[in-house]
Amino acid sequence: MRTPEGLGDLDGLVIPGGESTTIAKGIESAGLEPALRAHHGSGRPILGTCAGMILCDAEHLGFLDATARRNAFGRQLQSFEADLAIEGIGDEPLRAVFIRAPWIERRGPGVEVLGSHEGHPVAVREGTVLASAFHPELTDDPRFHAIFMAMVTAARERAREEAAR
Ligand code: GLN
Repeated sequence: MRTPEGLGDLDGLVIPGGESTTIAKGIESAGLEPALRAHHGSGRPILGTCAGMILCDAEHLGFLDATARRNAFGRQLQSFEADLAIEGIGDEPLRAVFIRAPWIERRGPGVEVLGSHEGHPVAVREGTVLASAFHPELTDDPRFHAIFMAMVTAARERAREEAAR
């Protein structure tokens, strides 16, 4: 998805990890921001992982009433793995891979914390936006993505009901 048109018929959108400054520049140069806002505004879900979480925060696209702190776990500890308890995926902890990861520094009352590491929120949800500081795509465990897929299915269902009304 590199053009605004490419966003038009997506039920859900993943803003992946990488470098938030680079992705922000790409969004700007490709003129994607209005299409991203339209996607979000129409109630279609967004999953932001790592840099994607940063881009969803209040200082970037503003899809989350929260502020992410970049490279929050320290530059020296560039990457690490941890077992996290995550709300809504059952009792078995989730192995999470962190790579120069952010954490959520500030959040409004509408932001639900699904998981934390060392007391810092690293998985959050606000309405149709789900975000993680870790990379759920780097392990074989599908449970975090399953939360997102359930959000996408529910949103599609809502849209279908509205259209039928
Ligand atoms: N540190 C990166 C940033 O600030 C995020 C790293 C990642 O996405 N793995 O954008």
